[in-house]
Amino acid sequence: MPQTGPKRTPKAPRQELPLRDPQSRTQGCGEVSLGFTLKQAQMEARRCLDCKDPKCIEACPLHIDIKSFIARMIEGDFEGALERISEQNPFPGVCGRVCQCELYCEKACLLGRKLKPVAVGALERFAADYASQCGNGLHAEPNGRKVALVGSGPASLIAAYDLVRKGYQVTIFEALHELGGVLAYGIPPFRLPREILRQEIDRLRAMGVEFCNNFIVGKTASLDELFEEGYSAVFVGTGAGLPHLMKIPGENLIGVYTANEFLTRLNLMRAYDFPHSGTPVRVGKRTLVVGGGNSAMDAARWARRLGSETTILFRRGRAELRARLEEIDRAEEEGVHFEFLAAPVRLLGDETGAVREMECIRMRLGEPDETGRPSPIPIPGSEYRVPVDTVVAAIGQSPNPTLQRATPQLITNRGKIVIDDRGQTSLPRVFAGGDVVRGGSTVILAMRDGRAAAEAIDRALQEGR
Ligand code: FAD
Repeated sequence: MPQTGPKRTPKAPRQELPLRDPQSRTQGCGEVSLGFTLKQAQMEARRCLDCKDPKCIEACPLHIDIKSFIARMIEGDFEGALERISEQNPFPGVCGRVCQCELYCEKACLLGRKLKPVAVGALERFAADYASQCGNGLHAEPNGRKVALVGSGPASLIAAYDLVRKGYQVTIFEALHELGGVLAYGIPPFRLPREILRQEIDRLRAMGVEFCNNFIVGKTASLDELFEEGYSAVFVGTGAGLPHLMKIPGENLIGVYTANEFLTRLNLMRAYDFPHSGTPVRVGKRTLVVGGGNSAMDAARWARRLGSETTILFRRGRAELRARLEEIDRAEEEGVHFEFLAAPVRLLGDETGAVREMECIRMRLGEPDETGRPSPIPIPGSEYRVPVDTVVAAIGQSPNPTLQRATPQLITNRGKIVIDDRGQTSLPRVFAGGDVVRGGSTVILAMRDGRAAAEAIDRALQEGR
């Protein structure tokens, strides 16, 4: 007799993530999205069409076996589901919360052609939260070789996971005192609780990965010195943490921040708890955040939590916003206003040097530019002023330059490290990936790069290159 599992119900409505109500959210930094209940997770899992040729797996940069982890969830086997995910992705709790799934698996979901796609990210998160962490103890025999990974963002974390499973002794060198890269200093705890990040990093530690914090490669030690210490290869995953400036008059006024500084002060230095934390952040009655990506949403939502009337100023239209769709919705629910088709021209201050007004100009959209998005064109004579006490510029980042400056032989292009199709830089046995190669990107693409680099390192060392 053929086995029949629980019925699939693809026409059922997509389950909505339970959320804390917007009013109470802005009172603190507890997690906003509460995650599916058990019943919801199973109902959502049953929406999966169980495609013969599932496009979602191909579309996921890590090729997680989405079809079979969902099948296990339908059977109620959550540990099995987590095991399937962990074969490809050791950070399901993180990715289930922050992956921009609408660009990858959920975009490819067949169900999405007529109805809403299966909520793959939310199911991944449920599996991670519900099932006990299974440790994925696929430990390999030590092969006696050491690999150094520079930076502790998602690119290096997954490279460490893959390398340690191949028997390498792995050390991650991180400039900051906290591990996780943007996951720690950029993404706020109300989107990614730090205990989730810590748990998933602790799994790596338990597998034998060593972490060396407060260590800047290019200052504390050079790449050459790492090789002298006995490392056979190095992976550079130093990210894109150098903020772009608006380059307008008044940018140095008090109360004007880059998103990078603003978010680091809050997420990492706990400026919201000043004076206990020792690090202040100046947020007045009215905050303007310039930009339309994830950093802009995160900064604006923090400003709301600090009691400020907050507006996001974006030079293109709503359709061009680059943030995760979910975060745009959350920001709006929390009272963040949006001003589209406008850009800052200059900032004006008072006699104390504090910002008081922003002069803006209206824009219209023209032909697509090199990014493929319609180019914003200023409308002459449309300038207007708005009162403001805090300004956050969230208009993009470039790669962190320290290591590149200290290593002039490393070929770069506009600050981004250049790699060949094996992920190798211009230096032998030095590989790179993630935002330092791509510029600002996404967590899952950084992880795909880290995985590819781990493969390439293994191949190069095996072949004695
Ligand atoms: P990073 O995460 O940037 O980590 C690099 C690490 O290297 C840092 O910890 C840095 O301190 C360290 N480092 C730098 N130089 C040195 C050195 N010389 N020596 C030692 N260590 C060094 N993507 C999503 O998919 N979903 C989201 O919701 C999302 N939200 C975001 C929110 C914000 C505020 C930002 C800024 C980005 C967001 N992104 C999001 C993008 C995503 O976080 C990045 O693409 C991803 O983190 C890049 O990973 P990475 O490993 O390349 O580098």
